[in-house]
Amino acid sequence: MPNQLNGLRAQVTLCTKCELSKSRTNAVPGKGSIKSEILFIGEAPGRNEDLKGEPFVGAAGNILSEALAYGGLSRDDVFITNVVKCRPPNNRLPLVQEIDLCHQYLEKELEIIKPKIICILGNTAYNSILSGDSITKNRGKIIKKNNQLYFLTIHPAAAIYNPSLKQVLKEDIKTLKESLDKLKKGNDAETFS
Ligand code: URA
Ligand code: SF4
Repeated sequence: MPNQLNGLRAQVTLCTKCELSKSRTNAVPGKGSIKSEILFIGEAPGRNEDLKGEPFVGAAGNILSEALAYGGLSRDDVFITNVVKCRPPNNRLPLVQEIDLCHQYLEKELEIIKPKIICILGNTAYNSILSGDSITKNRGKIIKKNNQLYFLTIHPAAAIYNPSLKQVLKEDIKTLKESLDKLKKGNDAETFS
């Protein structure tokens, strides 16, 4: 329900549960269509996101948009969110305590959207959601946990510093879209091959 999503956005915008609320300009709730079949999870808002109150609107966001287009997806087809909804000072990694306190919002986003596949972007999401420890080794894989499918790929910001990774991300997003299409045809066996 769009109303549920609006209610959640309002809660996140006003949240003061962790210390990040003190240094943020704006909290950054997830954004996208309620009908999204794919939900992307990044790490935390950066400077541009903090100023705008929207996820992935800076350099990493441009790379993500490019990869989505390459895979035949647009930002309107997907829902994009982060492990924590407020920017950590100087873009440091979010602390475990901050991730834990913020987790209820991510859970609610998942409950409302009910994505067919969750796309994990980078190590922070991989670690906090699936207890994974090397996205570089595991990217491109689909895994199933507690009846939920996950697709693993690198964080778009990695491609800012290492441009060769942009093509890796683009190909991964294409694979993700193809996997979703197969899934919708009920072709599970092929999806997992
Ligand atoms: N990096 C992230 O992980 N999330 C954003 O929203 C922007 C950059
Ligand atoms: Fe609340 Fe999450 Fe922001 Fe912390 S990061 S203040 S828990 S919305």
